[in-house]
Amino acid sequence: MSKQTLVMKFGGTSVGSADALRNVTQIIRDAKKDWKRIVVVTSAMSGVTNLLLDSAALATQGKVDSLPAAESTLREKHFSAADKLIKNENLREEAKAEINTLILSLVDLCKAIAVLGEASPRAMDAVASLGERMSVHLLAAVVNDAGIQAKGIESTEFVVTNAHFQNAHPDFKATAEKTKQLLNPLMDKGIIPITTGFIGATPDGAITTLGRGGSDYSAAIIGSVLPANDVWIWTDVDGIMTTDPRIVKEAKTLSEITYSEIAELAYYGAKVLHPKTIRPVIDAGIGLRICNTFNPAHPGTRLIANIPSDSKPRDGQVVKAVTAIRNQRLVTIEGRGMLGVPGVAARAFGAVASTKTSVPLITQASSEQSICFAVPAESAASVLSALQAVFASEIEDEDIDRVWMTEDVSIITVVGVGMSHTPGVAGQVFSKLGDSKANVLAIAQGSSEVSISMVVAAADTELAVKSLHELIVQ
Ligand code: ADP
Ligand code: ASP
Ligand code: MG
Repeated sequence: MSKQTLVMKFGGTSVGSADALRNVTQIIRDAKKDWKRIVVVTSAMSGVTNLLLDSAALATQGKVDSLPAAESTLREKHFSAADKLIKNENLREEAKAEINTLILSLVDLCKAIAVLGEASPRAMDAVASLGERMSVHLLAAVVNDAGIQAKGIESTEFVVTNAHFQNAHPDFKATAEKTKQLLNPLMDKGIIPITTGFIGATPDGAITTLGRGGSDYSAAIIGSVLPANDVWIWTDVDGIMTTDPRIVKEAKTLSEITYSEIAELAYYGAKVLHPKTIRPVIDAGIGLRICNTFNPAHPGTRLIANIPSDSKPRDGQVVKAVTAIRNQRLVTIEGRGMLGVPGVAARAFGAVASTKTSVPLITQASSEQSICFAVPAESAASVLSALQAVFASEIEDEDIDRVWMTEDVSIITVVGVGMSHTPGVAGQVFSKLGDSKANVLAIAQGSSEVSISMVVAAADTELAVKSLHELIVQ
């Protein structure tokens, strides 16, 4: 046993059924042979976080009729796995009782929300946290029952965050102190801490979440503060693939990918890894691997250090992967009077920032007569009114002719180190898109020089991804 510390995170599908949990137990057992110290981070069972948030959203409209159905779905999901896997009656009944208490607190929270007629971000986090809290009880009992010493522990006890509910930011220093204090003594005794992904708590104990899909980030945070040698993200596909296999079934696993490539992919919609996961792992110099709970023998994808963007493609393949973010709108500010007016862009993005919207893509024509950028569709209306307000006098003076937005669009991004230094890649990308008849509404090249993004109408998303993927896999 040469290796030191490993953090393994299991996603929703990986802990989503009795069969999946059996695989997880075996994976932990195998890892124990090679690693001295292991921490396990678990997501909520698949579908659970959505169910919890939907229940809370209905409660804000005073609707609590579907609560009994939600309760029984949650019981059935967790209890049936517990009944199938936990032979020791005490362990089983204890885990079920803990889970039941959490289900009852969902009911209480939703009833309170229904009375108030609204849910604060803080209340939404209290609801959303229940999924991971339930699964940690289940998984810890399952693993213990299989004869592996483990202890369930909620990450609210050691992941300290600010009070930015629903998208909280960790305080790495405070988290490091508490994490070591709580997890090291367990690991020193050979006990595997099994903890909740996705959630943390403010210094005064209010539960926060790190944003949807944030369990990957939890694993990176914990890995970086311990520090671990490796973080392994166990999911339901064979690693990072050339594109989302749900869109293109020919998608292939990439055996390795650089940090900057995965950063672009994750940022531009590849759900397989939460974009915030990468930074703590790079900063702490930790190895990251993405692998498949349902095919553990497959090596998956390894992240490798960045290589200069002018280096030769590692395997003759310049374009490595294609990804898409759906449900965006393109907002355009245009007017001949904008030419040379200082500060238009600053005021525009100030107005966007005031709505707390982030902008995934910006393009500006060199004529300076228009600025065009993407925002998530759900924020588009508030962005548009903020822009109209901030430019009210320019609109009146007709220096700005109009501020308008498209229907739903998607951002399609191709990623690969060396793209910007390899002549002809952009040409291939656009001719592929041209052949596919997908209409390109805007283009941007990532500043990191490892990506090119194109905006297409929502209806052209699959067409665009499929045709660009042909540049990678014929
Ligand atoms: P988990 O619950 O394990 O966190 P997610 O559903 O969040 O899993 O992410 C895994 C999913 O990401 C895959 O099932 C796949 O459909 C999707 N995905 C999107 N883009 C990619 C990609 N480039 N490579 C692999 N999977 C991708
Ligand atoms: N359960 C959370 C979500 O569905 C976090 C995660 O799975 O990563 O968003
Ligand atoms: Mg995920």
